[in-house]
Amino acid sequence: MKDTADTVVGIDLGTTYSVLAVIQDGAPLILPVKGQRLLASVVGIGPDGEVLVGAPARNQWVVAVERTIRSIKRKMGKAETVTMAGKAYTPQEISAFILRELREGAEELLGYPVERAVITVPAYFNEVQRQATIEAGEIAGLRVERVINEPTASALAYGYGMAGDQHLRVLVYDLGGGTFDVSIIELDSGVVDVLATAGDNYLGGDDFDERLAGRIADEFVREHHIDLREYHQAWARLLRAAEEAKIALSSVPYATISLEYVADDNNGRPLHIRHEVSQGEFEELIDDLLTRTINCIDKALTDAHLEPTDIDRVLLVGGSTRIPAVWEMVTERMQQEPHIEIDPDAAVALGAAVQAGIIAGEEIDAVLVDVTPLSLGIETAEMTFTGRLQVDRLAPLIRRNTTIPVQRSQAFSTLYPGQDAIEIKVYQGENPVASQNVLLGEFMVEDLVPNRPDGLTDVTVKFELDVNGILDVKVTERTTGKQVSAQLKASRQRLSPEEIALSQARLGEAYDSFEPAAPASGIDPGTAALLHRAQTALAQPDLDADLADEINGLVADIRQATSAGDDAEVEAFCDRLIDVLLEVES
Ligand code: ADP
Ligand code: MG
Repeated sequence: MKDTADTVVGIDLGTTYSVLAVIQDGAPLILPVKGQRLLASVVGIGPDGEVLVGAPARNQWVVAVERTIRSIKRKMGKAETVTMAGKAYTPQEISAFILRELREGAEELLGYPVERAVITVPAYFNEVQRQATIEAGEIAGLRVERVINEPTASALAYGYGMAGDQHLRVLVYDLGGGTFDVSIIELDSGVVDVLATAGDNYLGGDDFDERLAGRIADEFVREHHIDLREYHQAWARLLRAAEEAKIALSSVPYATISLEYVADDNNGRPLHIRHEVSQGEFEELIDDLLTRTINCIDKALTDAHLEPTDIDRVLLVGGSTRIPAVWEMVTERMQQEPHIEIDPDAAVALGAAVQAGIIAGEEIDAVLVDVTPLSLGIETAEMTFTGRLQVDRLAPLIRRNTTIPVQRSQAFSTLYPGQDAIEIKVYQGENPVASQNVLLGEFMVEDLVPNRPDGLTDVTVKFELDVNGILDVKVTERTTGKQVSAQLKASRQRLSPEEIALSQARLGEAYDSFEPAAPASGIDPGTAALLHRAQTALAQPDLDADLADEINGLVADIRQATSAGDDAEVEAFCDRLIDVLLEVES
């Protein structure tokens, strides 16, 4: 029997969707979580105080934005917190809710505990962001065996990098929900060099939805003098409808957006939307955004000193690459047809599973090793020949694109005789001005004793960068070799085991002790109970999207009519809601 402790799962922890995969019978396979291949990266606290992850949380976002968190990946590595249902959470904790859902989904399907994972991150993620990702895994009860770059994972999913594979240059174009990345990677003897990355952290499918919804909202303003963008619920419903239409338009020439009761006119009469869009219209709406992605391709090619014809393979990944215009524009720019054989939503997770399989010792002979995307060094001050002190210089110990794991040591000395302490500041980035880079951590080396005739002290700074791109720094005194510093692990961005345990406890708490949502003021108990029933229905993972939208719409209408004090209308909407709920609940 297979030893269950050996299982390692692959996880694509995405900005909008997260995906789980494992190796089964030698091939990577997506594991659906609660029946869904893609888990929306949305976390919320439901009406009864229950934790919601995925589609139910996404449904709830429309009606209870203050109890719902989206796109947490953009905040990974930042020191700020987000507030969900009145409680503050770190980005690691919110991500941990998603990872925990994936872990539990895996356990349910596999039938045994899952404790190890490979998680993917964007190629440009710095050390702090990678570290935060690992911490999120730990909070979720997962040992993160490896973090790998998303473009590397895509290449693995395509089977590149198998033993004996020839030299390949691959351009990965990844257009997801909220972010766009293009990476040019070079596979050679199992090492993946990142030759260039470019992209836009705020460009993706969400923007396309917004463009389409915006067009309809504009029309609505012209017709009814009401701007739906000012009403969160109406706007959120319109965005969802726009996304559905957008997805349909990837395979059919026309789609219709229809929404009932989006707003009331001056006389309190309900207003509806019915709008047909053609594929051509939609493509025109997002044309400038797609052009921006092509410009990023150009930038990456220029940075890598390459022409389109130097690229051996072009891979399209990310859900938004299903838009036919994307394929056309990339094909035209790259003068070759991109590969789309692997489901673009799944490629990254499948690649993570391949890496996970390798770690678990499965029979797969892909061997790919990532490089560090950014240089690592310390801040120094130097005396110029003219005796001027130049401060805030970055002395790189490990240069970008160095294959990991790697260790580098360099000697540094104190600046003036009798100096008995050095402040070590560790930075990641390419700017020669140290402070212009990302500060990874700082610590003091104290009680130094001169070890040179000139009264200065030599120390050796050693950087150890592991396979995950996580850095460890040690400082030793030159003559004795004695370690004179604490490890960088003590730096402020890192969570200690105690803090991880604390976060685990906070997650556990959220699972069993959240306050139910307070009913909005001015709502009578009968209506409040009905709204509660509606939210419970919305929290069902397999709720049909049209029904979810209808419920969301009616909830919005009931709240609006309540605040307008129109009892007759409240009652009418409640009757309709009851009908829909009966349909859902049956
Ligand atoms: P991320 O990596 O950012 O988490 P994904 O790669 O899963 O996200 O992409 C999600 C985006 O893909 C969403 O904006 C979704 O609307 C979009 N999408 C999914 N399927 C299609 C489709 N058939 N046509 C157009 N866009 C799609
Ligand atoms: Mg992605």
